[in-house]
Amino acid sequence: MPETSPRKIPCDPAHHIRQIFIEESCADLAYVHEICERAQLPTQIIADRSDPPVAYGSFPKNLQIGKQHLVLSKNRGCFFKPCPGTREYRCCDYHVLNIGMGCPMDCVYCILQAYLNKPWLTFFVNSHDLFAELDLAFKRTSQFWRIGTGEFTDSLAIDHITRLSPLLINYMRDKTKGVLELKTKSVSIQHLANLDHNGRTVIAWSLNAPAIMTKEELHTASLDERLAAACQVADMGYKLAFHFDPIIYHDGWQEGYSATIKKLFATVPAEKIAWISLGALRFLPQLKAIALTRFPGSTFFHEEFILGLDNKYRYFRALRVEMYKHLLNEMRALASPHTCLYFCMESDEIWQECGFTPGKSQSLPDDLDTAFTRTA
Ligand code: SF4
Repeated sequence: MPETSPRKIPCDPAHHIRQIFIEESCADLAYVHEICERAQLPTQIIADRSDPPVAYGSFPKNLQIGKQHLVLSKNRGCFFKPCPGTREYRCCDYHVLNIGMGCPMDCVYCILQAYLNKPWLTFFVNSHDLFAELDLAFKRTSQFWRIGTGEFTDSLAIDHITRLSPLLINYMRDKTKGVLELKTKSVSIQHLANLDHNGRTVIAWSLNAPAIMTKEELHTASLDERLAAACQVADMGYKLAFHFDPIIYHDGWQEGYSATIKKLFATVPAEKIAWISLGALRFLPQLKAIALTRFPGSTFFHEEFILGLDNKYRYFRALRVEMYKHLLNEMRALASPHTCLYFCMESDEIWQECGFTPGKSQSLPDDLDTAFTRTA
């Protein structure tokens, strides 16, 4: 199959990147040369741990320019660690592989705006250290791990340039104690064709109501593009997952989420879906001011929220339950029986109020593993 140029992919989120900065100690790595060759962008070498010589302006408006610059650097900390869930809410025991920071797409609700302290995008090029760390972790564990790269960045947005995911997919192909989940809002998938994944990688898309996707998720692929890409990777033999997160209250939310769910199941083969998560909007207190400075036309932050036990604002419990029940009713009618429907970071009480049997939330990690095994 001929290679697809990164610039020709529809809705290519990397299209906005204007320049690559390379930390001095990484400049001779073959991997860095490959990335620069594929990106075909101006490059500049900078001292290790230094900032790109760009006048970014003040926070948070600097985030706009920051998304135009990619820094290739070393990860000097850990690549692999448990997802920082919260004790007070039911967690799915996810493990995070930290491949980089920041995202070229721009969602109004993106937690990274409040979380990261650098405006530019960073990608870690010491992949040999990443795989050495994974080797050690797999040697030591008896657990089954679900591993994701989409915690501090989007898994695939610039992957057609970095091509890290094909290396990870190949690495995971014979790992019986783990599964890789690549989570995205892009359609950067052509380079995942013809890989020997051995069914051990799940490709996941975040979905939302059409109005939210259009107004609050800038530079992302449309719903139709995401679902078409999901069909393509299903044809490539990958298992699928979807994340309705964040579910946002807005005028016409019932119709909007129903329309997305109906379109999802009318388009994508249900038997290929391993899991679907639901999570209502939650955000750090400082995010509201940052997002409203950058996106003054957005209105969803003006609803009423309570501060949860994890120090994040969330909708009142009654509204969360109402929204969850609505989405679950639509999904339960259409989903395959083996698809695991679950909540991200909710209490046991919410699970039960939404029709799950008592104790169901405690078995979530096992249920996800079972769903993965049963998915075609
Ligand atoms: S796609 Fe994800 S990581 Fe990227 S801006 Fe949106 S929420 Fe943030």
